[in-house]
Amino acid sequence: MMQLYTPLHFFGTYYRMIQQNFIDMEKMFDLFEVEESVKDIEDAKELQVTKGHVQFDHVSFSYDNRQTALNNISFTIPKGATVALVGPSGGGKSTILRLLFRFYDPDSGRILIDGQDISRVTQASLRKAIGVVPQDTVLFNDTILYNIRYGDVNASDEDVYRAAKAAQIHDKILSFPDGYNTKVGERGLRLSGGEKQRVAIARTILKNPPIILLDEATSALDTTTERHIQGALADMTKDRTTLVIAHRLSTIVNADLILVVKDGKVAEVGSHDELIMNALARKNEGIYYEMWQKQLDDHPDSSQVTSGVATP
Ligand code: ATP
Repeated sequence: MMQLYTPLHFFGTYYRMIQQNFIDMEKMFDLFEVEESVKDIEDAKELQVTKGHVQFDHVSFSYDNRQTALNNISFTIPKGATVALVGPSGGGKSTILRLLFRFYDPDSGRILIDGQDISRVTQASLRKAIGVVPQDTVLFNDTILYNIRYGDVNASDEDVYRAAKAAQIHDKILSFPDGYNTKVGERGLRLSGGEKQRVAIARTILKNPPIILLDEATSALDTTTERHIQGALADMTKDRTTLVIAHRLSTIVNADLILVVKDGKVAEVGSHDELIMNALARKNEGIYYEMWQKQLDDHPDSSQVTSGVATP
């Protein structure tokens, strides 16, 4: 396999890897439309990530020139911060991630990473800097070793084991019939949703990108899996700028910043405690406050979640 990745084949292979990545993210992103809509400019430079500072600067975007998906949206994410995107369905959360990955260019405004306009850098360098963990990871019909090494095709076996340990999936893999050489995917061993997500996390840890986009699984996880995923995520997102479409109370509460995205705008912004306190000061009015109350009603056991003000 490895000879595929010699310099001669590098560009073709890299392109195919990107394509595969798209397939991997099919739920979040729409591959075919996107490939046509975005091209490198003629003298595109390599993106130089020094800090991982992300800025949306008055970004507007419409998929069809009729309905606005993002409406003059501006926010900045400090280096290394974890930002939770929450808000009603159709509000624009996935669109923010798609634009940052440059599946589409904004109609107006700019998206900057460490001060560089992402529409002016090569797509390859941009996508190398960004790791994506989708809701539903597609595994290749190959060994678990191959599936994790996909994050960095030059990684040694030891590197793969280290990433799997950090993603809290190593012990599980050792319990498979042939350990790391067990075939997985549709024609192999079927992994649970939580296990597949940890494979995606191991891949991303191996890829070692400074920026991470994460679409949390919406489906309910049992407590042990939830704990494993949280541990894996903590390791993956440490010191990396992370944008997460958050569905879990634990993620939301622990985020450095929460952006409430509604009707293509950032309707509210702040930490969990700030958003709750603001709502209380306004006689319990606030989108986030209402969402939080609903989540508490839906997850009565969430009193374990550490929160300053809102948990019982
Ligand atoms: P959800 O929580 O349901 O995933 P979201 O907050 O991620 O929603 P987006 O997927 O970003 O919302 O959608 C924002 C708006 O853009 C919606 O009005 C949606 O219908 C529209 N939209 C999303 N994808 C497309 C597309 N490929 N073509 C046309 N319109 C789209």
